[in-house]
Amino acid sequence: MVATPIGNLGDITLRARAVLAAVDAVICEDSRVTGRLLRHFGIARPLLVYHEHNAARIRPRILARLARGDALALVADAGTPCIADPGYRLVREALSRGVPVRAVPGPCAAIAALSVCGLPTDRFLFQGFLPSRRSARRRTLAELARVPATLVLYEAPHRLRATLADCLELLGDREACIARELTKRFEELRHGRLRDLLAALDEESAPRGEMVLVLGPPAAPEPGAEEGEEDALREALREALGRGSLRDAVAEVAALTGVSRSRVYRLALELEGGGEG
Ligand code: SAM
Repeated sequence: MVATPIGNLGDITLRARAVLAAVDAVICEDSRVTGRLLRHFGIARPLLVYHEHNAARIRPRILARLARGDALALVADAGTPCIADPGYRLVREALSRGVPVRAVPGPCAAIAALSVCGLPTDRFLFQGFLPSRRSARRRTLAELARVPATLVLYEAPHRLRATLADCLELLGDREACIARELTKRFEELRHGRLRDLLAALDEESAPRGEMVLVLGPPAAPEPGAEEGEEDALREALREALGRGSLRDAVAEVAALTGVSRSRVYRLALELEGGGEG
């Protein structure tokens, strides 16, 4: 699985070049795109086109070649294979047949955007492309709203405005970054709150190029939210205590809610002591 540049050809790795030059064939999505890349580096290897429309037909042929011992490299049009790109089924089936699969890592738009977005990166969720239908897109965003992590989305330019508006409505006015045309001539990073980014877009002509949208995690709970949470915990504890021992009730509620055992235990003791009625 060979990663290739996401724009700037200088980002090819030494190992990617060596592997692409050495394999029996290169599996690619689009022979024109990969042909151009290989020519640029003076590499001449046979290409095998594999994409979602011919995957079912071509996959058995690829697996047969792997079984014969051929060395095949899989590349995406750009970046890391399997990241919002085909490849996963093939990797899975190769592995299930005992074919060794190796990563030749390199550029990835999501990781490049995370590295420059200035938002927390200790925990992130890669969403990739949202569904194109509005209702499905909004449903997905509603699910993501509760995820306590930075979110990474890929988006097409003509949908950026609508997506930002839906994000603002369903996720709140989060800090965000639009990373456009990373590593390319017209690379641009915009940082700001969703509302401001959206307002700036409204003043301009439609954005162009490839882009990653990074959204910061949800804000810390409002004061008072914790009280509401404690009420819900007490309620869950009362129910669990009705069914079993204090120890089991604490374990059950902590596991269900993800709240620490010590905090749940303290609340349980309060309840048992009758402090809360
Ligand atoms: N496999 C690729 C990777 O590792 O990032 C992603 C492929 S996905 C089909 C293409 C999407 O990735 C684009 O629509 C855009 O959202 C994002 N992308 C790819 N190259 C980019 C770049 N140079 N700058 C910003 N986003 C990019």
